[in-house]
Amino acid sequence: MDIHEDLIEQTIRFHGHSCPGLAIGIRAAEVALRDVGRADDEEILAVVETDMCGVDAIQFLTGCTFGKGNLIHLDYGKNAFTFYRRRDGKAIRIVTRPGIMGRPDGTIVSLRKKKAAGGNLSSAEKARLRRAIDDQTRYIMEAVPEELFDINPVSEPAPKKARIMESVPCEGCGENVMESRTRRFMGETLCIPCFETREQRW
Ligand SMILES: [Zn+2]
Ligand SMILES: [Zn+2]
Repeated sequence: MDIHEDLIEQTIRFHGHSCPGLAIGIRAAEVALRDVGRADDEEILAVVETDMCGVDAIQFLTGCTFGKGNLIHLDYGKNAFTFYRRRDGKAIRIVTRPGIMGRPDGTIVSLRKKKAAGGNLSSAEKARLRRAIDDQTRYIMEAVPEELFDINPVSEPAPKKARIMESVPCEGCGENVMESRTRRFMGETLCIPCFETREQRW
């Protein structure tokens, strides 16, 4: 683990708790910092294919954040993170290897399945699940990155992000909205919530 203990503590505090998903994000960020660099020193774009826990670590540790516009979310539901460095076009995609989230043993998977099937977990099972989740977090934090992830170079260029900041008033609610986010409906320019309400009524 190349990231300083204090920084990991800060990341956990930023996220609110320690969990396997955050650990995946911390380790992916570690690879990104090692292979591509940090967004404060380099121009880096991150594309994340999940919006779960791990993205907090990506934002906190790599400096790629939603607010800065150098983090793009694709709603694919995968623990996959791609980093592009503008200077030389270097890019890598980091994706968790199949089965990693079930390690080190099958306890989490089997107890979660039981819960999902409507079964109640006994307090002993709950404690076992808690322990298994902690074990998994520890496993992720201690494994070598290549055991956790497939890390591959990306040859396609970074996606372009249109950041058109022009705002127009919505003709439904009157609130200002980014023009690129408006919808046309029956001759009116609407924000998305207004558009969806009218579309339902129509
Ligand atoms: Zn979490
Ligand atoms: Zn509106």
